[in-house]
Amino acid sequence: MNKKRKSSLVGAVEAGGTKFVCAVGTGPNEFLARTQFPTGRSPARLLEKVAAWLKEREREHGALTALGVASFGPVDLDKASPTYGHITTTPKPGWKNAEIVGALRRAFPHIPIGFDTDVNGAALGERRWGAARGLDDFVYVTVGTGIGGGGMARGKLLHGLVHPEMGHIAMPRLPGDPFEGVCPFHGRCWEGLCSGPAIARRAGQAAESLPPDHPAWDYAIYYMASALVSLTCVLSPKRIILGGSVRKAGRLGEQRFFERVRKSFREIMAGYIASPALTENGLANFIVPPGLGDNAGVCGAMALARAARGPA
Ligand code: ZN
Repeated sequence: MNKKRKSSLVGAVEAGGTKFVCAVGTGPNEFLARTQFPTGRSPARLLEKVAAWLKEREREHGALTALGVASFGPVDLDKASPTYGHITTTPKPGWKNAEIVGALRRAFPHIPIGFDTDVNGAALGERRWGAARGLDDFVYVTVGTGIGGGGMARGKLLHGLVHPEMGHIAMPRLPGDPFEGVCPFHGRCWEGLCSGPAIARRAGQAAESLPPDHPAWDYAIYYMASALVSLTCVLSPKRIILGGSVRKAGRLGEQRFFERVRKSFREIMAGYIASPALTENGLANFIVPPGLGDNAGVCGAMALARAARGPA
């Protein structure tokens, strides 16, 4: 390895609700090592394993200059808070109030640790290497087991009171739709209607195995487009990147899923916002899959590490 690359080596942790993906490298095409651990129910034990794995990679590849953690949430991002770097209210067993950053800080006391939501991490990674290059205002949404959204306004990651919780926005009800949704907090929020488990509950089978003409897709696509219209009206993004597993849409296929979401978006928006980006042709570049594909999350953690270290 050349000296420049070695001096910019970072550790990345994509902390997901199902698995933790860990990597060491400098960017999307420069992974020197990668592994994953099931999330399980014991945060302390898992973070010990993660730290030990990163330490071993240091011995093989050289010192890490920073760590980045892109985490499922909700998380505490207030650096003045005693629970900074903790998960907060998750219903996930064992993870309520779990400490994430502190556990890594004890193992790596001398390097910066970047910490943000998984979706803000992915947004940063997409801006550096993926589908948001050159954009200062955009949204990154993941639709999988849950729905989360992050992004940037004027080149800064979206933070505020806590961090955006786009997956829990209230949703309209299509006439005649009796489905009550699956969110344990709100029922029919966006996550309650369009996450993988929501589509599966409505259809009585996993989304991946649904025939392309199954009505559950019609509902999912309408509600998805409706939520994206709301985000567009509120945040005025220049692009929406739609990641996560649901976008692959099983037998319907990713391409048709995106085409149908864009068409429905146009119908719901009804021509109100006059921008070339929201015309039939423009929408092909407005609602897009992640440029980093399924690596968006772990690359996001890497981007958070690089940002924590400062300009290199
Ligand atoms: Zn909800």
